[in-house]
Amino acid sequence: MRYLVAAIAVLALAPSSAGAVELVNPDGSRAEPYQTWANSARVPLPAGRFVVHRDTSICGYAVDPSGCAHPDGWIAIARDTYPMEPRHTFLHELGHHFIFQGPEWKRAWFKTVFPDTYGDERFANVYAECAVSPYRPRPATSAYKSRSFYRRLCRIIAA
Ligand SMILES: [Zn+2]
Repeated sequence: MRYLVAAIAVLALAPSSAGAVELVNPDGSRAEPYQTWANSARVPLPAGRFVVHRDTSICGYAVDPSGCAHPDGWIAIARDTYPMEPRHTFLHELGHHFIFQGPEWKRAWFKTVFPDTYGDERFANVYAECAVSPYRPRPATSAYKSRSFYRRLCRIIAA
């Protein structure tokens, strides 16, 4: 019986963010593989229900991007995200929603560390990488100074 109590205590301590994000298709059905990718992400998630469109013409740019995120609660992912992986593109857009909701100090911190570029884009890229690998950047896509710096970025996102 003592073991049962311990197991329940561990469940109670599980991150409350688990399952806090709901990803649906425009018809309201569960949007896969995006929900699975979000559920396995190793970063905190934005809270709420987001509609995933598989058409980036709704982003409203002159040239269709591989993806975009809108503060009104939707994400658009291109059917072909080349050269980026679809999972990275999705997690990047989820990162935008996270920082839309997130504390302003995280956005400000990234803009201070990366003053040469768009802080929100850098944040979203790092978010997507930390979501998959919080300890080691993927060599093909990363340009971070060192592994320790990369880990620091992931810790700031998770803070
Ligand atoms: Zn972006």
